[in-house]
Amino acid sequence: MSSKVLVTGGSGYLGTQLIAALLGDGRDVRATVRSLDGEEVVRAAVRRGGVDDTALELVAADLSSDDGWLAALEGVEEVHHVASPIPSAQPKDPDELIIPAREGTVRVLKAARDAGARRVVLTSSFAAVGYSPKPVRDYTEADWTDPDTPGLLPYPRSKAIAERAAWDFIESEGHDTELVVVNPTFIAGPSLVASLRSSLNGFKAIIEGTMPALPRQRFGVVDVRDVADAHIRAMATADAAGKRYLLLADGPTITWLGLAQILRDHLGPAGERVTTDEAPGEEPSPLTIHNDRAKRELVWQPRPATTSIVETADSLRDLGLLDAR
Ligand code: NAP
Repeated sequence: MSSKVLVTGGSGYLGTQLIAALLGDGRDVRATVRSLDGEEVVRAAVRRGGVDDTALELVAADLSSDDGWLAALEGVEEVHHVASPIPSAQPKDPDELIIPAREGTVRVLKAARDAGARRVVLTSSFAAVGYSPKPVRDYTEADWTDPDTPGLLPYPRSKAIAERAAWDFIESEGHDTELVVVNPTFIAGPSLVASLRSSLNGFKAIIEGTMPALPRQRFGVVDVRDVADAHIRAMATADAAGKRYLLLADGPTITWLGLAQILRDHLGPAGERVTTDEAPGEEPSPLTIHNDRAKRELVWQPRPATTSIVETADSLRDLGLLDAR
């Protein structure tokens, strides 16, 4: 019988999809949430993913405190560390994000090592890979965001610092616990949680036309279900230990205008409000992000970005998260 698997950030957009996928694979899952007050919300989200939540146990633990982590790790060999603070607006004091992200990651890794866990798969981000300028914007897992890059916002800074701290800890004090990191680009796709979290806020604002202008940025998109799948494959693939994996859909990277046009075409008359004005400025320079390592080594097959984008809109509508006109 396989041991329990731990998912941190069990209440989130990705966390709930990962829990549902693990339960669907027949695993016993323990998940951490900041407060057990929201237990029924998490269970309802997981059931919305089409699985029975009987084999799910929820425990309370916060990234900012040692309380609860020892108990969370008891009897666990596999840890998916997904939790990280994601602000709806960037804080004035970057430490509000950086400290829980970095210290929380090390706290989870320490607890995993002390419990003798076999492997931790950490959700980092493309923000830890490709947010420092390069003459040609072509990124692989060999690239790192320098946290001291001028103008770097607190959230990408927190992800770069937390991932670096994770590798440093595993190299110096990890003992037999292995680390694998996944670095998703912008996550889209259906939500199991019936509230506006994470990437869903941006989608709602574009669909309802409340975003005054689209930023001139180019970025990669990956489906939330494919990130969950990559987490599971990263845990199961022996040779993945010690590696990071960039996650994005096949095909070219996209601009906000490109994303808005996909939404407008898909929504038909309901897409009349979609924001299509762009902020002033220059066309973003070409951006290439390579996903071939994940495809080859994890045998990972991402959905097309268009599928994820249109299914995000459908999911927001089905969950009643879009304002009626
Ligand atoms: P989300 O829905 O906001 O999930 C974040 C999770 O982290 C939530 O469960 C949240 O709990 C938890 N969390 C935040 N601060 C915490 C703290 N101090 N202690 C314990 N738990 C805490 O966002 P998401 O998109 O699913 O993000 C999941 C992971 O993917 C994060 O590591 C994020 O950085 C990474 N990622 C996201 C994207 C994207 O485009 N969305 C792209 C690349 C990487 P509460 O419910 O209590 O807030």
